[in-house]
Amino acid sequence: MAKIVVVTGGVVSSLGKGIAAASLGLLLKSRGFRVTTQKLDPYLNIDPGTMSPFQHGEVFVTDDGAETDLDLGHYERFIHQSVTRSHNVTAGQIYDSILSRERRGDYLGRTVQVIPHVTDEIKKRIHSLSLTTQADVHIVEIGGTVGDIESLPFLEAMRQLKLEHRKDVLFVHVTLVPFIKAAGEVKTKPTQHSVKELREIGIQADILLCRSETPLSSDVREKIALFCNVPTEAVIAATDVGSIYEVPGVFHDGGLDDLVVSMLGLPDRSVQPPDLTAWNEFVRRVTRPEKQCEIAIVGKYTHVRDAYKSIIEAFVHAGAANRSRVNLRWVESTDVESRGATALLGDVDGILVPGGFGERGIEGKIAAVQYAREKNVPYFGLCLGMQVATIEFARHVVGWADANSSEFDPASEHKVIDLLADQAGVTEKGGTMRLGAYKCALREGSLAARAYGAREVSERHRHRYELNNRYAQQLASRGLAMSGKCVGRELVEIVELPDHPWFLAVQFHPELRSRPHDPHPLFRDFVRAALERRAARLGNNDYVPSAVASAAAEETSQA
Ligand code: GLN
Repeated sequence: MAKIVVVTGGVVSSLGKGIAAASLGLLLKSRGFRVTTQKLDPYLNIDPGTMSPFQHGEVFVTDDGAETDLDLGHYERFIHQSVTRSHNVTAGQIYDSILSRERRGDYLGRTVQVIPHVTDEIKKRIHSLSLTTQADVHIVEIGGTVGDIESLPFLEAMRQLKLEHRKDVLFVHVTLVPFIKAAGEVKTKPTQHSVKELREIGIQADILLCRSETPLSSDVREKIALFCNVPTEAVIAATDVGSIYEVPGVFHDGGLDDLVVSMLGLPDRSVQPPDLTAWNEFVRRVTRPEKQCEIAIVGKYTHVRDAYKSIIEAFVHAGAANRSRVNLRWVESTDVESRGATALLGDVDGILVPGGFGERGIEGKIAAVQYAREKNVPYFGLCLGMQVATIEFARHVVGWADANSSEFDPASEHKVIDLLADQAGVTEKGGTMRLGAYKCALREGSLAARAYGAREVSERHRHRYELNNRYAQQLASRGLAMSGKCVGRELVEIVELPDHPWFLAVQFHPELRSRPHDPHPLFRDFVRAALERRAARLGNNDYVPSAVASAAAEETSQA
């Protein structure tokens, strides 16, 4: 059986359990263990697919087409391995399968209850993933905060797991040690209470990861250890850092991986500490950029950064690949409508329009594309960003003033974006999403083919609408190059403008595949084009104001 590390969170939400789980995964993988990570979410939605980005942040799509929690993105980026549908389990899925069994009569007249039926189903999902992944260590992150009513069945299932496999289960609790200005000191009481709350339901935390603004003194660690019933070395300070990618190093220095290995009695295969050479080199590039550029993201949820998590990270990776810091300027597309593209985008080095749903702000996005196209500003469109680029081209280059997507204007005579996937045999029922990985064939010599250095790639999708093939010929004849086609289906996946410095838009979501050790080629080349534009504009007088900063400077430590 795999060793299981259960990661819970206490005191407040947003402490970075996901980053903590992912960082531990990276450390253990670097020591030679096979690692898998799973997120258990206590909410009743079947998946976050239907939740607003305001509520839940980005929906992370896996190769097998599951719409999952954004923490799975952290797992993929930190541990550098792809996850699947089974890596994210929600209470909704658990109840759904129990209730359908109940309707089928599978419970043979018994009363169906949280204990044992719900808890058994939770444990079953964990064991089954351990088996399929053949993991040495299986990290299970429990969503929510200890004390929530929703997470109780999940924690109860973890308590049982420990009872059934005493030596194979370890509890890591991520908690907060706040600094109280008025008192001039850090406070350990919230941590004590949250650990006590776990104990009340029968779980003793083994390791505490204490988030704090400043390093914890040994006095404070000893006090926490005493009150929380753990050894002092198991109180590990998770001090705030500038980039989330520094967290594994902080945990390693705090002794986390050594402790987990010894507490779980794992065969320590590594003669040396984990090999973090490549990771540290990446972190060095992130924290010590040599140049910078500024990219505008013209979107709809620009004040909810979690809605664009993978895009932000893809820019960190692409920045590192170019030894550059990428400053992101968040622009609300409705503001472009009211104030105009020149005012808001006048001095940026590149413009990106991300994915999105619904009509609000569409005209602002189209105006941003027009600005990029006419002023030769590098443009990168993702999903909806390709759809608005196509509409813009149809309106202003081809001359169809009413061109639109049938999603936004069913009455338009030129629906250059339309529901096509079902007709092309991609989705089962009309109108359902095209989800997950599809192969895309690239046209030789195109911007896309040169960036990827390949003829065929696989990318993840999440959308309903497609470039309308009825108009493909006319659009292409006016200069919209269709450089990527879905393999085996008549669907356009990439458009580009050959006589523009860098103008490329994709129907898929490349940001979901970018990783520290494998920056996405399109993001990498887009940033390079932005740097070239900046150099042409400012010459060599540009400088990086502060050495320690990154695209995600605003996301202090662990999102
Ligand atoms: N709303 C568009 C569609 O459904 C774009 C979706 C997206 O950007 N992910 O096709």
